[in-house]
Formats: sequence, C-alpha cells, structure tokens
Amino acid sequence: MAYREMDTQGWQVLDRAHYLHPFTDHASLRQGGARVAVRGEGIYVWDTEGTRIIDGLSGLGNVNIGYGRRELVEAAASQMLELSYCQSFFKTTHRSAVMLAEKLTSMLPDSLNHVFFQSSGSEANETAIRLVRHYWDLAGRPQKRMIIGRELAYHGSTHMAASLSGIPPMHSAGGDIPMPSVTHIKTAYQYRNGFGMDPAEFGVLAASWLEDKILELGPDNVAAFIAEPAQSAGGALCPPETYWPEIQRICRKYDVLLILDEVVMGFGRTGHWFGHRRYGIEPDILQLGKAITSGYLPLSATVISDRIADLLIDKGGEWAHGYTYSGHPTCCAVALENIRILDEEKLVENAGATLAPYFKAKLDSFIDHPLIGDVRSVGLMGGLEIVQDKATREAFPYEAHIGDYCAAEGLKRGLAFRANGDTMSLMPPLVTTIEQFDTIFDIAREALDATA
Ligand code: PLP
Repeated sequence: MAYREMDTQGWQVLDRAHYLHPFTDHASLRQGGARVAVRGEGIYVWDTEGTRIIDGLSGLGNVNIGYGRRELVEAAASQMLELSYCQSFFKTTHRSAVMLAEKLTSMLPDSLNHVFFQSSGSEANETAIRLVRHYWDLAGRPQKRMIIGRELAYHGSTHMAASLSGIPPMHSAGGDIPMPSVTHIKTAYQYRNGFGMDPAEFGVLAASWLEDKILELGPDNVAAFIAEPAQSAGGALCPPETYWPEIQRICRKYDVLLILDEVVMGFGRTGHWFGHRRYGIEPDILQLGKAITSGYLPLSATVISDRIADLLIDKGGEWAHGYTYSGHPTCCAVALENIRILDEEKLVENAGATLAPYFKAKLDSFIDHPLIGDVRSVGLMGGLEIVQDKATREAFPYEAHIGDYCAAEGLKRGLAFRANGDTMSLMPPLVTTIEQFDTIFDIAREALDATA
C-alpha cells in the first residue's frame, strides 16, 4: 500500500514490525501501538489522528525555540547547497565550524577557548573521558584514572556514558557497566538525602560526599568529577546555593578536573544562557548538545579549558579521536542560526525574567495535591514528585508505574510530560506563553487527579 494512503493502524503495524525505539518496552507497543507524530509548530505536535499535543518536554529538553522555524530550515538548505559535508581530519576546516566554535567561546568563561564537535551528548561524554585520561597521561600523572559521577545522573547511552550515569537500569543492561574506573556518590537530592535539613547546610553536606570519595580513592587516583548543574533526567534535582561553590573548592583542592554536563541545561533551560552562569561554576570541560540546534539537527560540543588544550596541542601529537560527523557543516550552520534566534528574540532573558517565576509559582502550587510530596524547579525545568504517603514520603511500589500512569493521563488530555522515576518532569519550550502555561498546568492537575 502507498504510504500516503496508510492510516494510523497501518503505521503502527509497520512501526512494530521494523522500528526499534530507544528506551521502550516494545511488548507494550502490542497494545495500541505508538502515537504517530506528523507535524510540529511552536509548542505543539500533531499526530495522524489530528490530535494536538502540547510538548511540555521540548522534545527531550532540546526543542527550545519550538517547532517549525523556517529560518533554521533555510540555514540548513543554504549550507547544504554550498558545502554539504566536510571532514576536518586532514588539515581541512570549514567556515561554519570555525564560526560556531568562535561564537560559543565568546559566550563562555574566559578560560574556555577550544571546542571539539560531535553529534550527541553521549559522544561528547566519551570525548571528555578520553580527553581527561589523555590529559593526565601528558601531564605525567597517568595514575589519575578514576572518574566520579553521581547517583541518578544521566550522561548518555554509549558504554562510557552509561557508566557515568547513575540510574540503575543504565547499569543492568549490557554488562560491564559501570566500568571499574567509574564510581558514584550520592547526589544533592534534599527530599531523599537530607530531608528537613537547612538547605545551606545540606548543600555543604552533599558536596562533602565528593571529598569523602576522593579521599577514599586517594586524590592521586582521581581524574575527574562529572555532573549536571541541576539534574534533569534524575527528576529535576536542583542543588542548594551552597553546593556548587563547595564542589568547585573540593575539585581545585585535590586537582580533580570538573566536567560540567550542560547537554540539557545549556541554551536557556535554567533561565540563564548556561547552567554554569546560574550556579557560578567554572568547569574545566563543558558539554553542550541538544538545544544547541533546538533539536533541528544532531550536534554536541565539548568546550575545553586552556589548561587542557594547551597541553594537548603542545605535547599531545595526533590525538586519535574523532567522528566522521565532527563539526558537520549543516549542523554548525543551524546551531549558529538557532543561537541568533535565541539572542535576537531575547528568549533566554524572557524565560529567566518572565516565564520562570510564573512557571515556579504554578509548580509550587501543586504541593497541596494529595499525591505530591515535593516540588522542584530551576528556570524552565520542573519536577513534581509523586508519593504514596506525604507524611512518610513513602513511594508507590515500582510495579505500580505510577509516573507512567500519570504521563498517560496527561497525554490523553493533550499534554506530553514525563515520568522520571516517580517525578513528573516538565521542560517546556522557551517560546511557551503565559496562557499556554495555564493550559499545561490545568492538564497536569487533571492528570494527577485521575492518577490519585
Ligand atoms: N547528558 C545529559 C545531561 C543528558 O540528559 C543526555 C540525554 O538526555 C545526554 C548527556 C546524552 O545525550 P544524547 O542523547 O544526545 O546522546
């Protein structure tokens, strides 16, 4: 049958037969099948049934400027017509990658002046770990090998990125994960790890878990600490203000490199251009991805401090690392156009000054809901943690899949929001209006009521 004549069911049958989806229980697709998306505009996505869904997740935290922006399409088309592909391996470069690298470094702290490109956040984290190891070898300290990550972190799905992640299912699939050179500490999750404490004291305590781990391993054995400014997939875990200054101090004290994974936080999610600006962090390696192109094309950037880059360039010879699509011209051109739009339309400034306070007030109001034990947010990332018993903070049994149930109730009513464990996460596009926020939160409340 010609594709154009196919109905929803036809697509679902083909989908089930041939397309393996990421992070999906495929057996569950036997009942009803997947929603078949066909079009996007602004904050909305339509499916084959004509149903309009509000994308309360900005895709996967990447579609910050919304769907359907013609300028990005035109930037891609004109770059493809001019130079559709260019390798950068053999003493060749091209203008889009150079311009984007220069643009990014002009937006970042003075010490971050060098950019390596890949296609995904997972690849960026592979680059960072290989780079860190190479750096310590060049610096004459090859015993510095261990990488410390955090529980509930998500850093990607490749072998090393899954090891860096601290979400248990990431470790159970595939074996040998986490790799022996990676270990994890408890995270700045006050509701579970420091309930009732003064937030400032909790921030210092949570940072001390890093120091404890460094001392346990021996500072001479620790290469790097990797973390997001605030944890997104972990369930919108936003640290107290005292956390990051302490982490920074501890990393410097023991000469442990700080890899800041801003794959989600970068380009406005926190209501600031970058999460490190929001929390006052100075990383040695900064990871960008996702919203660098607002999801129009795959691209990620590993931004490297002078300290590391100088040694790499002066003493490193040829570093045997790279990808066919490192610095793809079309992706770089689209990223430049995306940054221009974010900048000229003041989307980040508006998100921080106007949208984020409204978003926070709306989210905070859910604390009166019988299912909600904790509410957390930074900028336009928020989480509503569902509990069975608000007094004891007891969670629902895993088998209840309570978050997935709530997400399905949201979808029925036209809102895509997501369960991270038992936390319902929202990461709306930066172009969402106040009126649209009202609709989002009305539906979220209805979904929770239907779950209760
Ligand atoms: N780092 C963080 C913080 C992420 O949330 C993700 C993906 O969600 C990644 C890295 C991996 O990025 P990708 O899916 O592009 O490989």
